[in-house]
Amino acid sequence: MSTLLLFPPQWCPSQPYLSTPALTAYLCANGCETSQLDLNVEFYDWLLTEPVIKIFLNRVYSKFNDLENQKYLPPSKQSLYSRLAWIVCSHPQEVAERIENAKMTLRNEEHFFDLDKYRTAMQTINDALNIVSGACFPTQLGFSSLRMRALAGDFSKILDATQDAVENPFLSFLEEKVRFLQAKKNPCLIGISIVGNSQLIPGLTLARLLRKAFVDTHINIGGSLFSRLSDVIPMHRELFTLVDSIVLYEGEGPLLALHNALADGRSLMDVPNLVHKIGSDICTNKIGSPEDINMLPTPSFDGLPLNKYFSPYPILPILSSRGCYWAKCTFCDHHYIYRRNYRRRDANRVADDMKQLSRKYNVIYFEVADEATAPNAIAEISDQILEERLNVRWYTSARLEKSFTLELLHNAKQAGCRLLLFGLESGCNRILELMSKGVTNETAQLVLNNSNQAGIWNHVFLIFGFPTETIKEAHETIEFVITNKNVINSLSFSPFEMSKFSFIAENPAAFNVTKIKSSNSDFTVWFQHKANKGMNSKDVWQTVEFLIDKLSEEHIYYPVYSSIHETGHIFLYACVKSAEGTAQLPISRYNKNKKDIIPISTDENWFSLKPKLADGFYCTTLKFDASKIKTRKALPNKETHIVLDVNSRLIFPNSPIGDSILRLCDGNISLKQVAEHVSQRHLIPVAEAESECLSLIKIYYSMMGAITLRR
Ligand code: SF4
Repeated sequence: MSTLLLFPPQWCPSQPYLSTPALTAYLCANGCETSQLDLNVEFYDWLLTEPVIKIFLNRVYSKFNDLENQKYLPPSKQSLYSRLAWIVCSHPQEVAERIENAKMTLRNEEHFFDLDKYRTAMQTINDALNIVSGACFPTQLGFSSLRMRALAGDFSKILDATQDAVENPFLSFLEEKVRFLQAKKNPCLIGISIVGNSQLIPGLTLARLLRKAFVDTHINIGGSLFSRLSDVIPMHRELFTLVDSIVLYEGEGPLLALHNALADGRSLMDVPNLVHKIGSDICTNKIGSPEDINMLPTPSFDGLPLNKYFSPYPILPILSSRGCYWAKCTFCDHHYIYRRNYRRRDANRVADDMKQLSRKYNVIYFEVADEATAPNAIAEISDQILEERLNVRWYTSARLEKSFTLELLHNAKQAGCRLLLFGLESGCNRILELMSKGVTNETAQLVLNNSNQAGIWNHVFLIFGFPTETIKEAHETIEFVITNKNVINSLSFSPFEMSKFSFIAENPAAFNVTKIKSSNSDFTVWFQHKANKGMNSKDVWQTVEFLIDKLSEEHIYYPVYSSIHETGHIFLYACVKSAEGTAQLPISRYNKNKKDIIPISTDENWFSLKPKLADGFYCTTLKFDASKIKTRKALPNKETHIVLDVNSRLIFPNSPIGDSILRLCDGNISLKQVAEHVSQRHLIPVAEAESECLSLIKIYYSMMGAITLRR
């Protein structure tokens, strides 16, 4: 009896995820014939090709032309029009033509580590995904994110989305994949691993297609997302029209028991952690004991296309522990899926995992994918790696504990540790206390210093808008970052979110916050909330803007992320670039680009300068005024000139003369020559054209950075 394990989209495709490799190894070690497929990386590999992007682009053009042919643009269509206008105006054909190259850049060691090539490739990939998103509006698909409107709806909306050919970008790929599987495989058990919200709709789309194609196969879902949804699963029996069962919490033992029960034709009642349907009842079996982490085999990556991931080298995830040894942070519910059960794998086994995988797959890069690796665990793993003389590089998450001494971190560096991810969260001690982080900003500073001195790249996560946090306290965090700019290597931030099983969600009154449970979105693992004290959401975003401006002002070109899914890329840069002694930053997504700004003195002759429209700005002519979008009024069909700023996603209105001026700004002719052309084209005196040119260029240069100037 064979088992097939599938990892569906959507997840960041830069490295494999650990779930199916861990389960595959366990089932194989117990004599079960098991294979696995990473449909996520296969999806991105299929999607990011010229012919496929062009199919989505044709859908964009067709929708856009339909709208442009309307007499009026109603408010309900304005967001769609704006999104499509962006795409149509920003040279999408070129994006489609460049996409294969961009993909190859990320997989090619020489090009990946060329910072300009890397940035261009990531930009092209994001532009291509934007085309896909425009075609599937209002869906927003990114390299490491997915937003679909059905996710905020009730379960019937989620089920509808699994067969929505317009908004679901995964449907045609998964249909083709299931047809292929049907022709090649005949498994008795199929397991779908769903670990995050972004996999929910694609994962259920896959389940629906598999259900139809494999009528006699037992279809199961497992993964941490469904563990967090254990309370709502019994209320949604429609789920069991797509799957036969769901495994909650850790999956190894339960999946093996399920396999054996199916093979022997026994009842499923004895399979631990299983939710299944008996007649019309949904039954949750007894929850079994946690896995003995030292008895688990080394993960198996057999069957995964290691050369297809979007990185120049494969990075393989392993675990040195399950659960969190601290498990006290009031905003966190990671402990929930391990039911507060923390277990460590012996350091010699962790080192042995690296050794075996290194030999078997010819890799040296690893992620120790723990929630938080304890300092003593890092010390022991490092000693073991050094003792066995393993040539490996690795990264992990850790707490900012003072036991991360310089000596310990030096040793870790020697043993190949190149990146530590730290949850700093706040630079204000009152907030850290309220979070129960068990850390003060003084300790944080010490550890960041030590890691910097030891040569281990540190990345810090920040949270803004924690309940009761004031603007002044948020600015303490910004101050902390600026003060420590020489020892922090990169950072990312997020607004506070109330996780479903966190201490705060269980005790909202103690944090002066109101929990708002939307009855429409059962399948979410966060609560909406209202802060009764401290910053509101507008304050939070203004604080984030302030942080970004401040970093730019200080000329700190941190890689600042709104999310940290490209961690693998930071890690590889930290490994390779620091080895050369020239650590560079992989990407500066949010920092404002100042490199093209030249100082202009007050007596400068502007007419001798050669203006050029900066990268990321486009001037264009549309049938509707996209700068007036979201006015709640229907817009009349009227030719309109606008300027698009791709980086800040802003649209500025422009005049016919302004449009001519900007289109002439190619960096090859002086402003004087631009004015002469404008004078001829618009039949106005040269002096008037010069005056128009000067005022427009000054505004676009100094206020928006839309113009660069060359002497
Ligand atoms: S935030 Fe990190 S350290 Fe804190 S409880 Fe969660 S996993 Fe543990």
